[in-house]
Amino acid sequence: MSRVAIVTGGTRGIGEAISLALEEQGFSVAANYAGNDEKARAFTEKTGIQSFRWDVGDHQACLEGCAMVAEILGPVDIVVNNAGITRDGVLAKMSFDDWNEVMRINLGGCFNMAKATFGGMRERGWGRIVNIGSINGQAGQYGQVNYAAAKSGIHGFTKALAQEGAKYGVTVNAIAPGYIDTDMVAAVPAAVLEKIVAKIPVGRLGHAEEIARGVAFFCSDDAGFVTGSTLSINGGQHMY
Ligand code: NDP
Repeated sequence: MSRVAIVTGGTRGIGEAISLALEEQGFSVAANYAGNDEKARAFTEKTGIQSFRWDVGDHQACLEGCAMVAEILGPVDIVVNNAGITRDGVLAKMSFDDWNEVMRINLGGCFNMAKATFGGMRERGWGRIVNIGSINGQAGQYGQVNYAAAKSGIHGFTKALAQEGAKYGVTVNAIAPGYIDTDMVAAVPAAVLEKIVAKIPVGRLGHAEEIARGVAFFCSDDAGFVTGSTLSINGGQHMY
């Protein structure tokens, strides 16, 4: 039986590319999404990959959603915490709701999904958790104290959970993408985007598939000795 992977936010953008890459690798993939039913339906029709709607920021919904996936596809071996949102604004203009919602979904989602699946992976002696962080969690970004804090938190979460999973065959790694040509980046004003691209040594935005290939490596058997690590895929924009 093939291994089962859940990709949160897996029906569009970077998540869609990840779902496809993991399916190509031979895993049974469940693509989670938040509310864009139309896009999810089109994705499932096009790819044959089943999509499941729940809010990763809702703890109970994650427990129930993961249980449903396990019932349909089998025990969950791989989780890719990709779902994420932005609610940008300088601190003076950022509401508590903007702060809280980004923390709840981007960082809380990782905790909720790990709570729902990590125990089973540990018991079965094999598991892969890959968390999608961000260059802005590593370097900070003007107007994004909420997003930068949540993404930075993901990098800490990854290293801490990696230590808990290591001796049970469960690896936990992160990817820190730079600017990738998805809907999220399409929302950035053109003039701002031009300035961002000018700072990318490779001279262009990244593609979702370039992130997906990194995720696929972390999920492979070949990566069994790689844990607690963060792979930056950012065209050289931020190096450390
Ligand atoms: P998109 O906005 O294109 O897609 C976001 C996906 O996440 C959608 O599938 C959406 O579902 C889902 N989602 C949002 N909120 C929730 C929720 N509460 N529960 C479940 N699913 C949810 O994002 P990208 O593909 O651009 O980004 C993917 C990840 O990569 C994010 O974590 C982002 O922060 C990170 N990233 C992106 C970068 C970029 O340049 N694009 C750079 C660095 C990091 P639905 O379709 O239903 O709305």
